[in-house]
Amino acid sequence: MDTHEADIVIIGGGIAGLSLAAALKGPGRVLLLEAEPSLAYHTSSRSAAQTQPTYGPPAIREVTAAALGLLGEIEERIGRRILTPRPLIWCEFEDGGGLANLSLTVPGVVPGTVEEAVRRLPALRADVLTGAAFDEGAKQVDVAALLAHYERTAIAHGVEIVRDFRVDAAVRTGGGWIIRSGERTARAAAVVNASGAWADTTAAIFGVAPKGLVPHRRTVTVARAEGMPVQPDWPMAVDVGGGFFFRVEDGAILASPMEEDPNPAEDAVARIEDVERVKRRVNAATHLQLGDSLRSWAGLRTHPYDGIPVVGWDPDEPTFFWLAGQGGYGIQTSAALARLAAASLLRTPSGLDPATEAAFSTFSPARFDASTAR
Ligand SMILES: Cc1cc2nc3c(=O)[nH]c(=O)nc-3n(C[C@H](O)[C@H](O)[C@H](O)COP(=O)(O)OP(=O)(O)OC[C@H]3O[C@@H](n4cnc5c(N)ncnc54)[C@H](O)[C@@H]3O)c2cc1C
Repeated sequence: MDTHEADIVIIGGGIAGLSLAAALKGPGRVLLLEAEPSLAYHTSSRSAAQTQPTYGPPAIREVTAAALGLLGEIEERIGRRILTPRPLIWCEFEDGGGLANLSLTVPGVVPGTVEEAVRRLPALRADVLTGAAFDEGAKQVDVAALLAHYERTAIAHGVEIVRDFRVDAAVRTGGGWIIRSGERTARAAAVVNASGAWADTTAAIFGVAPKGLVPHRRTVTVARAEGMPVQPDWPMAVDVGGGFFFRVEDGAILASPMEEDPNPAEDAVARIEDVERVKRRVNAATHLQLGDSLRSWAGLRTHPYDGIPVVGWDPDEPTFFWLAGQGGYGIQTSAALARLAAASLLRTPSGLDPATEAAFSTFSPARFDASTAR
């Protein structure tokens, strides 16, 4: 039987756990436990890899803006690019609305014309597009490079990373917890729950009340465009009605039907009907004529009833810290969310501005009661 000793144990080696591990410097021994043989096997390696400053509720946009600044600093430090400009066109079609509302209420969304949208993204069909708005600040993220940076930094800070350690039991001791995975154990004074789709399951292992975190499946397919040649610098297109998004990926088109289907916490797989649905929708709105898929996958976007993350000390269990519920924003917020979470965990200043701190305070797990946590 091997036993790992730590002051803080982080459960989950996705982007949440790894970014936090990288942001922790000097709190004593930190141990990161990951259930799978490899890190970031689940949702963190299945995203659309975008940073969209105009996407999500106000608190998410605030934290995303702070994260963009920090990602710039990371790029400078490591001497390589993580972000590539990929402006976003919010598209409105005959059958859906919502663009006026978006342009009026979300700073950074600049109203444009159908002509301009088609000029910048000639794949769009001018005869079905009824409106367009632009987010010039949107960027594509090299997620693999970002994850590698977080892992390297965590290791440099002395964090011990243990793979193949699925936490399945926990016993309270005077000074904290004995945490088990079969015959293997770890001991720690405090626990961080960064276990993504399994966050409520992990809480139950520690006897902590769930927060109503529901995993939602979202599918992505990468398919050949048979209708026209694609250009690598095309902007991304998002149907403001939620029907699809697409962008260029290695000479093909990466597209999603943007479904939001509740799904058990598991190794999610793409369903053929979702892949076919997005192709039909994209083909109806563009000249792309998506054909065979080169690859398809699905991941789980996990969030509570109000759609914003759950980050902070549990109100009823002073040794249990939540870093969960990032939904569809876990990549774009990671740099700032990790900084804020580390400061909250260690009860130190984050160094981020008051507006970002205020946004972060709305993520508190104390906002749940018995009715909202179901
Ligand atoms: C199709 C799709 C597109 C997306 N696009 C974007 C995007 O463009 N931009 C963006 O910002 N976000 C996007 N997201 C969301 C983003 O990917 C997630 O918010 C983020 O990856 C969540 O990270 P995580 O670390 O919380 O979860 P995960 O990556 O799932 O990590 C959780 C880890 O915890 C481990 N774990 C679970 N239980 C245990 C246990 N008992 N013991 C030990 N380990 C355990 C799991 O094995 C897993 O590795 C997208 C998501 C999907 C599905």
